[in-house]
Amino acid sequence: MISIVVPVYNEEEIIPQLHEAVADAMKNIGEEWEVVYVNDGSQDSSLNMLRDQQTYDPHIVVVDLSRNFGHMGALAAGLQTAIGDAIVLMDADLQDPPSVIPEFVRAWRDGAQVVAGVRRSRQEGRKVLAVLFPIFYRVLGALSDFPIPLDSGIFGLLDRKAVDSINGLRERNRYLPGLRAWVGYRTAIVYYDRQDRIGGEGKLTFLSRIKYAMDAITSFSYKPLRLSFVLSGLALAAAVILSIVAAATSTPTLTLTSGISATVCLVGSLILLSLGLLGEYMGRVYDEIRSRPLSIINEVHRSSHVRQRVLETWQRDGRRSASSAA
Ligand code: UDP
Ligand code: MG
Repeated sequence: MISIVVPVYNEEEIIPQLHEAVADAMKNIGEEWEVVYVNDGSQDSSLNMLRDQQTYDPHIVVVDLSRNFGHMGALAAGLQTAIGDAIVLMDADLQDPPSVIPEFVRAWRDGAQVVAGVRRSRQEGRKVLAVLFPIFYRVLGALSDFPIPLDSGIFGLLDRKAVDSINGLRERNRYLPGLRAWVGYRTAIVYYDRQDRIGGEGKLTFLSRIKYAMDAITSFSYKPLRLSFVLSGLALAAAVILSIVAAATSTPTLTLTSGISATVCLVGSLILLSLGLLGEYMGRVYDEIRSRPLSIINEVHRSSHVRQRVLETWQRDGRRSASSAA
């Protein structure tokens, strides 16, 4: 079964068109499917419209959140509710065209456990965003401690295993494209052209985007914390140069000013060094609190006679049921 999870916040203008496009993409998929619309505390008639659509189409599941929790909160609720063997995440505004979903499913059938939709081109209503998005992805790519596909948002497909891994993560500042890369699994990339919204206004405010970008960088990189070390080194270098100037010059005022400046730089360098050290501890505290698993097992391969022996031992010890051992 394929599930599609769609967060919905005040999208009354586009719901009929949205569902039509989804149903159209899914009609020849050759699998059972459901679409989970997560109403993220909309103040307009989105919820009623979704409930209304549900009376005509039993594929629809409506999850109504108690208030507006934001894009990531809505997606988290959808990931917990969807029961499919593969789950597609997409936005309601048809910026990510549902016609790409069959390609995701094909890649999944070919063995991919994670399929990331990567934007080949982008039509963005707001020009500032069209400039800022690529910059953000490049910065994140340079800073992150492991590769995150560039130009890729939430649009993509996750196998049940990947969904369970993501649902099991406890962290609160979630940047889903990063987590999707972090959990790993066999990943395929499908290129598509990102469209402009089909109607209504963008629902994410500029500030919430900044928060999201900061979540992304702080969740997947220690490097900003290490900036203090770099600055400390620079201040130390300045201190050394200024002391040499102070020692070499015979002009009393220059000796005095460079001497004082060298001292200031040296003190600054020491303070920055301590901040860097604090940062190293902070990073580790953050790691411990987030408590991501140390690793995620995809599969364990044992030869069949060993499997039989393990099974017999488990049965004898009664430690686990035979079915879970199998
Ligand atoms: N959305 C949501 N809760 C919010 C804001 C947005 O569920 O608080 C949904 C919205 O309905 C849409 C998706 O998240 O389906 C992405 O929002 P939007 O299109 O405004 O973001 P953009 O594409 O501009 O990044
Ligand atoms: Mg959008």
